[in-house]
Amino acid sequence: MAQSTPTTRERGTHEVEENCAEAGGPLSSFIGCTKNRGHPQFIPVYEFSADHVRPYMPGEQQKGVDRMVEIVKVLAEFVVRISAPVVSDQRPDTWEDGRPYPFVDRRGRRTNKVGSGYVTCVTRLCGKSVVGICRRGSCPRGTAEENECWKIQVATARHVVYDDSEARECELVLFDDRPDGSDSVTLTGGWSVESADTEKDMCVLELYTHDKVLGRRLENIWSRRRAALWTFSKREFYLWWTEMFRQLLQDDRLSQLLQDDRFSQLLQDDRIPLLLFNNTFSRYISHRLSLLLYYTVCHDDSDLTVVISHPHGRMKYITLGQVDSERPSGRQDNCFTYTAATCPGSSGGLVIPLRFWLLSARVTTHCFSLSVNCGLSGGEHSFC
Ligand SMILES: [Zn+2]
Ligand SMILES: [Zn+2]
Repeated sequence: MAQSTPTTRERGTHEVEENCAEAGGPLSSFIGCTKNRGHPQFIPVYEFSADHVRPYMPGEQQKGVDRMVEIVKVLAEFVVRISAPVVSDQRPDTWEDGRPYPFVDRRGRRTNKVGSGYVTCVTRLCGKSVVGICRRGSCPRGTAEENECWKIQVATARHVVYDDSEARECELVLFDDRPDGSDSVTLTGGWSVESADTEKDMCVLELYTHDKVLGRRLENIWSRRRAALWTFSKREFYLWWTEMFRQLLQDDRLSQLLQDDRFSQLLQDDRIPLLLFNNTFSRYISHRLSLLLYYTVCHDDSDLTVVISHPHGRMKYITLGQVDSERPSGRQDNCFTYTAATCPGSSGGLVIPLRFWLLSARVTTHCFSLSVNCGLSGGEHSFC
């Protein structure tokens, strides 16, 4: 559990790997980690199994545990390593609270900084209007592929990639899940910043590519992720959520917290679990309300939280922990804390609070370490 409660003045330590001399490969080849010596908590994606999840879900049927494993593995496919060698001269001196901003001492210089990120959106575009949109100078002119491209969006922490000048020179590596790096795909050049927020520590990168194999592969993962979410929401979790919402209605804390009439009307609707993934409902879940709901639901410290990242810039690893049900005091945004292990290189990685994901299909970004056993997320949640 967290030894201390973060406040606006306490962000902890960022988890960018500052000097990544060698990317990829297993953590066993990394020597000198003082935070998680030997890295016993870090599980390669291909070894991840029900045995890892079971201790966090003692009452769950085997089928439910197996599905959790399947979901985590699908979402893991979206996680990327980001090498961002440039440090923008536009990085601010300090955070809003006056503490120094990461890498401020190296503005305008090059480093070997490496973090993590995850794909949040894949969109296929086609027609005459996409010709030249990729801005990569490598359009397959005069071929059928010229009229078809994919827009890929990737979320990370802003302290990993600050602005366009950093994004342009980023190298993103997808599917680096194995010790020999077989199957990995590298996307260098052409990245730009779609949106960013310093205090929420969020940055969304985007890239247009004509790579049909990659585009279709990502679309396929997206479909499998959607199918996994629907399976859960429609079967085992339908009754569970309906009951949960009924209980929430009787919870005084919730009625005090949720003053929004539209929201309480929705809560009284038995069809809520099926509305969760509907655009209408998404509009009602403002970030503030969704987090209040989250903390009300996860009041027993038992929610499994999964972090997937590239610690020390090595291959992809999964760590498990629990969400800290106490909301970080003094923070007005949507950050929260968890016990899953992280190391330098995990900044920008995918944080999945599983119950919250099942409720809202939203995830967030790993940003800071408050202590060895306490990670702090960013203040923004994205669909994934
Ligand atoms: Zn480490
Ligand atoms: Zn093009």
